[in-house]
Amino acid sequence: MDTIHLKAYAKINLALDVLRRRPDGYHDVRMIMQTVKLHDRLVISKCKTPGIFLKSNLDFLPTNENNLVYAAAKLFFEQHPQNCGVSIQLDKRIPVSAGMAGGSTDAAAALFGLNRMFCTGLSLSELQALGVKLGADVPYCLLRGTALSEGIGEILTPLPPAPACHILLVKPPVNVSTKYVYEHLSLDENTVHPDIDGMIRAIEAGSLTDTAALLSNVLEAVTRKEYPAIAAIEDTMREFGALNALMSGSGPTVFGIFDSRAKAEKAFYHFKSGSCGRQTFLTGLFQPQNTAPIEVEEEAD
Ligand code: ATP
Repeated sequence: MDTIHLKAYAKINLALDVLRRRPDGYHDVRMIMQTVKLHDRLVISKCKTPGIFLKSNLDFLPTNENNLVYAAAKLFFEQHPQNCGVSIQLDKRIPVSAGMAGGSTDAAAALFGLNRMFCTGLSLSELQALGVKLGADVPYCLLRGTALSEGIGEILTPLPPAPACHILLVKPPVNVSTKYVYEHLSLDENTVHPDIDGMIRAIEAGSLTDTAALLSNVLEAVTRKEYPAIAAIEDTMREFGALNALMSGSGPTVFGIFDSRAKAEKAFYHFKSGSCGRQTFLTGLFQPQNTAPIEVEEEAD
């Protein structure tokens, strides 16, 4: 196989709890992760010249080691040297710095694609062990679906698929630094922690209403104060009939859960015509249908 086409899906956090700050600076988290259908595309092709040649549709993204796709390929070739190089075309649709693990999912897709292309035979857990060196969310992005994520994000327990629904994603035009959010999070006796176990029960029972009612993200304590746009988007989504709405990850993207396509579309066109414009997406939950961790869209010889 000389070329492989891959879809790299975004994630949302149905619930995000931070348990403690660890001495190494990382945080112990407990999160319910969910893949959504919004995705980037990667096309990886073998080339005779050794090296990694990355191109992206976004001019402002780095195409060197600072891009997680490049970093993933570099790591892969360090561990599994080959006598040729690769060119990689990355087409981004997932908003950047949005709390949707865009870079991590691209890295996961690159690792998966290279493993397949060079027939290196790494198992899912071996790919995850490589991936965690690139970022705490990469192992989840290789697994995908509905999952409980613990530790720094690398301890994963697959859950039954969350109930199907329509997801509206809106990224407000503000820049939120993940580092800033975690540094300004104060965990004390007043912290309202998400009911993660309650949400797991709601998912197991297949109840969309109960799952939506339990949406909660401890990081919102920081971002709601600093960025009123986030709370305003959530309120508007609820006014348009969302069962509930929440900020994903460290933000600033907000997702709304709808049980009606018509209501979700109405809200979508409202945000699309406003200042959020092109950073608005109507999508759904993605559940992998087979054990292959990344969907291969097309393989060409
Ligand atoms: P997370 O949800 O894991 O916190 P995020 O969605 O908030 O991630 P990303 O979109 O992954 O954030 O990107 C954050 C930073 O990583 C940006 O500054 C960007 O320049 C850099 N980056 C490196 N590689 C990529 C990539 N392939 N796609 C997007 N951003 C990338």
